[in-house]
Amino acid sequence: MHANGHTMSARILVVEDEPAVNELIVINLSHAGFEVVTTDDAETAWNMLSGTPPDVVLLDWMLPGISGFQLIRHMRADSRWRDVPVIMLTARTDEVDKISALEAGADDYITKPFSPREMVARVKAVLRRRDPQMLEGSVELGGLRLVPHARKALAGDALISLGPTEFRLLHFLMTHAERVHSRGQLLDYVWGGRSHIEERTVDVHIRRLRSILEDHSMDAMVQTVRGMGYRFSTRLDGA
Ligand code: CA
Repeated sequence: MHANGHTMSARILVVEDEPAVNELIVINLSHAGFEVVTTDDAETAWNMLSGTPPDVVLLDWMLPGISGFQLIRHMRADSRWRDVPVIMLTARTDEVDKISALEAGADDYITKPFSPREMVARVKAVLRRRDPQMLEGSVELGGLRLVPHARKALAGDALISLGPTEFRLLHFLMTHAERVHSRGQLLDYVWGGRSHIEERTVDVHIRRLRSILEDHSMDAMVQTVRGMGYRFSTRLDGA
């Protein structure tokens, strides 16, 4: 959460070991209004993922030590980072083609040298593709308010710090409140039917969402309907 309580902009993690390229990316993303965090190695990136997950990772293919290729394999094998969009950065000399980048689990791929404008456009495109709801208006129910375009969640006046998946999940549940959704339906709508996601991933994110809402005494509205799935309800009697 931002200490100043201002609008949360999308957060981009940049993993690039060439200082000049790293700096070029950071300057251009910051200028475009993104919050940027950066590192030059995959191990630090892995630790940084454990905090507030980024909305997009820009990941260099060749890094000293653990490569970008290995890092994305680790991410895609872990339910926590499986659905974080990754754009791979590759140099022509890396001898990777688009197919191997996409097969490794990347959402997009940029070849160096690249134009900063194109790089920013690709980041925005990935965000739009993964978060089409971000173009929608705000929703308010039971004291909870979501402002999708600003990626802002509020409990009364208090800002709630939600990761991108929890935000999408809560937004879907709130805009389809009082109805029960199966795990499969939630995967389709919230995760966009990405086939490598298992149904228990939904449970993991519901748990995380509830524990965040619990800090604001709002968790009871995210309800489990035994044998069926989940719903958002402002009726707390379970009826
Ligand atoms: Ca490199």
